[in-house]
Amino acid sequence: MDKARDIITRWQEIQSEIEKTAVRCNRNPEHITLVAVSKTHPAQAVRILSQAGHLDFGENYVQEAIDKQEELSDIPIRWHFIGRLQSNKAKYIPGRFDLIHSLDRLKTAQALDQRCAPLGVVQKVLIQVNLAGEEQKGGLSVSELSAVAREINALPHIDVQGLMCMPPFFDDPTRARPFFRRLAQERDRLQDELGIELRHLSMGMSGDYLAAIEEGATLLRIGTSIFGHRDYD
Ligand SMILES: *Cc1c(COP(=O)(O)O)cnc(C)c1O
Repeated sequence: MDKARDIITRWQEIQSEIEKTAVRCNRNPEHITLVAVSKTHPAQAVRILSQAGHLDFGENYVQEAIDKQEELSDIPIRWHFIGRLQSNKAKYIPGRFDLIHSLDRLKTAQALDQRCAPLGVVQKVLIQVNLAGEEQKGGLSVSELSAVAREINALPHIDVQGLMCMPPFFDDPTRARPFFRRLAQERDRLQDELGIELRHLSMGMSGDYLAAIEEGATLLRIGTSIFGHRDYD
């Protein structure tokens, strides 16, 4: 893990880039939340950033997230789940994550709904869209999005708040921009079609978050640029 000071310095730099970019494209910086992706990094790294005033953290693996949550139960954190989510893991989710970014199957949504019901909680979710049809990545295809989103939205203990995407990796971040734009269009279309408000677009990572802000991102998921490189994924 990088030194505490380095983590905080990089976090401050990113916050200031986010603010500058938002202002430049006439967006309110308060409508953009930086989710610090702490997967594979120790709980201590989360604690350091939390003590510097950061609130939102993202994790990819259920067990790793639970371990960190237990270790950090003394501090206020808004946890985001951003990894692949299988229905057999649904039982661990209710009450643990403020927002699930990566819901991509009706079956998982139904399992989650069932687990939330007895607890009387409503789980906020985003639906992940696989815009480039990449097999190794999760997400609904654009063609199935409307029908599945409609069914997920009908579940009483699931609150659909928007869409998430993870475009193919490009060295040149401008090449990710068309995917961000497309996700925003799909959001607008789905909003009209279902007659619900979808306020969130979770898009933009370390390499391409400035383009994502310009295309309307409300949640940025940034790991490497804050915590440094990961040894494994
Ligand atoms: C790891 C991960 C990120 C963060 O990626 P960085 O390139 O390290 O900023 C964002 N979103 C998802 C879904 C991830 O798995």
